[in-house]
Amino acid sequence: MARYKHMDIGNGQGMFLTVNLEDQLLPGTFEKMLSDLIGTKIDISEFDNNYNNDETGAKAISPAVLIKLIIYGYSRGHKSSRKISELCRNNIIAKALSEGTEPHWTTIADFISSNSEIFQEIFVEVLAYCNELGLIGGETFAIDGCRIPSNASKELSGTKAELEKKVKAYRKMAEKHIAKHKRQDELGEVNKEVEHKFIERQKKLNIQISKISDFLTNMKIKEGRCLKELKSNVTDNESALMKSSSGYIQGYIGLAVSDDRDQIIVSAEAVGSATENEYFPQMLDETLSNIDEVEVQAPQGKKRTMMGDAHYFTEDNLRACEDRGIEAIIPDSQAKRRLGKDKEELYDVSDFKYNQEGNYYECPNGKKLEYKRSLVLPGNRDGKQYRANVKDCSVCPLKARCIKSRKKTNKSNNGKMLLITKSNEAGSLCRAMREKLKTEEYQDKYGYRMQIIEPVFANITYCKGLNRFSLRGKRKVNGQWLLYCIVHNLGKCLKGYNMVMGYT
Ligand code: SF4
Repeated sequence: MARYKHMDIGNGQGMFLTVNLEDQLLPGTFEKMLSDLIGTKIDISEFDNNYNNDETGAKAISPAVLIKLIIYGYSRGHKSSRKISELCRNNIIAKALSEGTEPHWTTIADFISSNSEIFQEIFVEVLAYCNELGLIGGETFAIDGCRIPSNASKELSGTKAELEKKVKAYRKMAEKHIAKHKRQDELGEVNKEVEHKFIERQKKLNIQISKISDFLTNMKIKEGRCLKELKSNVTDNESALMKSSSGYIQGYIGLAVSDDRDQIIVSAEAVGSATENEYFPQMLDETLSNIDEVEVQAPQGKKRTMMGDAHYFTEDNLRACEDRGIEAIIPDSQAKRRLGKDKEELYDVSDFKYNQEGNYYECPNGKKLEYKRSLVLPGNRDGKQYRANVKDCSVCPLKARCIKSRKKTNKSNNGKMLLITKSNEAGSLCRAMREKLKTEEYQDKYGYRMQIIEPVFANITYCKGLNRFSLRGKRKVNGQWLLYCIVHNLGKCLKGYNMVMGYT
């Protein structure tokens, strides 16, 4: 019978091993690249200003160690500071990156939450390295946002009136709780356990009451478009209640602009808002400033192009592109729905001719659409309504291309209604954009938008596991978002880095 050597590894005894930490970072791996780049190609000297222990005080854990550990942890799907700290004890790669130190999780958490501005600088440093490897085309970009919940309670959000109602409800609950306890006391049902439960519950209710009451005393009402009051949040008032694919969430939108060559993120920002279109000019400026700073070459004889989905289709955003000499490709929300019943393109506002003298529009069938009224639309926009005669429309041979839902029109017994707003009046950039996107050339170009930006969000949220920001406040959340974008960009550098180093 064959005999084998046996080693009892479950005997609870340790074993001394000789480990060279440097050897654990294998050439060709992400962690080797990280270890080589931080502090050399990627300058992190800005962190030195945070430390004031030249002459007195204990030696601090090096920021190079902390940033390497955090990036490594995030790249492996660990976003909790406790987990990253734990890795230093039981993961040999993390041990090598931390140079044998074991930073406490509070040190890691504090480092992440207090260095948002420096992360922005590191983001640009990483971008410069991406450019050095030739990963940035600098010609076509795409912008989009990803709604991510944050460390804020959805239940503690509401308008001023709603929050006042909530405090009242909690007070009532606390009163009822005391009354119930009194009754139990009279009946002699109170023992140690009941007493403990009562105290704990009462404590929780009092904390909620004082939390909301304190918030209400200093509350500044947030106003949205149409001057309507927006919901505030007691736990993190900079976050926003927003609709996402998985229902309503309390959180932030992680905005990113990605370059088309290798899906490198060229600018990133987390914003606490339910809508993202108003941040478009800001992201445009950030993109231009970042690519100028890292000296990305401008395309020869061509304009730079920025693509966005229908969320960004506003006159102001298109104007922002025009002013900066950037070609925008942004469809309106109706672009997909422009096909009628017979798969023919529906008539657009541009197919209706305006008669200034009579203040009416003439439809493709030569009928008049009379002015009806002026409206104030959401977003404080002005609109003018023109309507055709129902008798003309009911017998019109062009009806299928003019009125999308004939059923509805028949029900309300109305003719074609035309709404003229700033975005579709003659000469507007919105109208020009609609015309542009009717051409095959621009439709083809726009078809690439998803390929440029969507893999970025898939990588960050699915592969790296950022399904929730673990911090509160815009500044801190922005720092965490930037760190994830750095992880994404560094991941893209790996192939180029290995080629430069001769590892492949
Ligand atoms: S449906 Fe009415 S508005 Fe449209 S083309 Fe015909 S007559 Fe003109």
